[in-house]
Amino acid sequence: MATDAQVGVRMLVNTNPATGEVIGEYACASAEEVRTAVERARAAQLSWGARPLRERLRVVRRFQELLLRKKDEVARTITLEAGKPMVESLLSEVVVSLDAAKFVMENAEAILRDESVPHANLAMKTKRGVLVWEPLGVIGIIAPWNYPFSTPATETLQALAAGNAVVLKPSEFTPESSLMLGELLHQAGVPKDVMQVILGEGPTGAALIESGVQKVIFTGSVATGKLVAKEAAARLLPVVLELGGKDPMIVLEDADVDVASSGAVWGAMMNAGQTCLSVERCYVHRGLYERFVKLCVEKVSSLRVGNGMDPHTEVGPIIAERQLKVIESQVEDAQRRGATVLCGGRRMPEVGPNFYAPTVITDVTPEMELMHRETFGPVLPIVPFDDDDHAVKLANDSEFGLSASVWTHDLQRGEAIARRLEAGAVMVNDVVTCFAIAEAPHGGVKASGIGRTHGHLGLGEMVQVKYVAVDRIPKMKKLWWYGYGENFAKQMGAFTELLFCRGLGKVKGAVGSRGALWRERR
Ligand code: NAD
Repeated sequence: MATDAQVGVRMLVNTNPATGEVIGEYACASAEEVRTAVERARAAQLSWGARPLRERLRVVRRFQELLLRKKDEVARTITLEAGKPMVESLLSEVVVSLDAAKFVMENAEAILRDESVPHANLAMKTKRGVLVWEPLGVIGIIAPWNYPFSTPATETLQALAAGNAVVLKPSEFTPESSLMLGELLHQAGVPKDVMQVILGEGPTGAALIESGVQKVIFTGSVATGKLVAKEAAARLLPVVLELGGKDPMIVLEDADVDVASSGAVWGAMMNAGQTCLSVERCYVHRGLYERFVKLCVEKVSSLRVGNGMDPHTEVGPIIAERQLKVIESQVEDAQRRGATVLCGGRRMPEVGPNFYAPTVITDVTPEMELMHRETFGPVLPIVPFDDDDHAVKLANDSEFGLSASVWTHDLQRGEAIARRLEAGAVMVNDVVTCFAIAEAPHGGVKASGIGRTHGHLGLGEMVQVKYVAVDRIPKMKKLWWYGYGENFAKQMGAFTELLFCRGLGKVKGAVGSRGALWRERR
């Protein structure tokens, strides 16, 4: 239980990870402020949720237009506080959010439309069934720093389109991206209380879960995800948990080595490896292994590391010292146990305070931390395998199951292997990019999470279902109502046969049960 003593007294200091410069200071919201925000959101949701869906979608369209107009300003804000190269801020944050808005605009009506449910049971034929999708109320969104705009934007757009209010708590490392998201949504026409951003660290997130929201969409580490799940369970609060990964990449013997090695390098190094879907384990068929490793080392060594504001930069900084220490300790642990660092493997203080050199590492084994804990850094471990079964076994040998990839010219074989991998998404001949497919559900299996965001299934997480059954013969008393007795029991036995027997049994059932309709006491 978070108390006001734990929250509200602290200040957030936002720093540029590339330079260490302070770029903003904000007060953390107290538990009381969080509760008040959620109460205001609940009151405002009533009229927002009652608006016709088309009207809410017009607001989403205006948001999309505004975001498109301000794309450079948004990308700059993201790069300034998250560090990633500007072009990645544009593609993986702004474009993904524009596309998420487009998906909602084009699909929400069909997805949220009432759905008729035909009844197969003869006894229920007089009733017409319909599924109605209703907003949940207030959705609490707790976001991470690594995709500080597109992660909460995608979730918020879906929640708002479905008629919910949103209270968003961004990561303490990246408050400005969410403040900008909130501002754009307000300018587009979302009432201020319907979409609120509250700032703070972990205790503010914990306060949000305790504040009376109807659902929590959490994106972050497995450790925090477990705490969130525990708090939510105590309140029977539904949650979506988008957690960490240790994604495997499998390169089969018929893959194009040049293409696959470029895919591995980009998949492991984009956003300096701080992507939940990063390639964190690369398994390569022994026949290609040496050539593949050589190409990866060449390509990784030529990456330009620097401030994301410089358009030539390909790998930006690590978000903070805490994360640098994790990367450093995993690489050191692997080296102590016999791994070989072929390039990188060190900090780069000559570039700035938070930089780690893009690293290729071989001779790694499953017991090394690097191979079973999430690294979240620019490190590519490469391991040889002998055949498909061996590759699948290695890939599935993980507590995580976010995404995976298979590389081959034989698309059928690639898809067959994809079906054997334990992951929420598997890409054949690409990595990471499924996050950018607005129609594709995003989420994991095993320790990588529960539930889905994005696409049809993501929108489905933002509503609750109500079943409405309308009996079309209001004048008829039902067959199974009171008026029980020996005769009635026999009639119901016959009725059961009418429902489930075939041929003669069905006819006998019809004859034996028909008297039930004319019982006296009903
Ligand atoms: P984190 O778990 O440290 O923090 C995530 C959010 O939770 C932050 O806003 C934080 O303030 C908040 N928080 C911390 N303690 C809390 C508590 N007790 N109760 C409620 N909220 C609390 O994660 P991070 O370092 O910000 O993000 C990196 C992690 O997120 C990585 O593990 C990464 O794989 C994962 N991630 C997953 C996905 C996905 O879609 N599966 C996407 C992006 C990041």
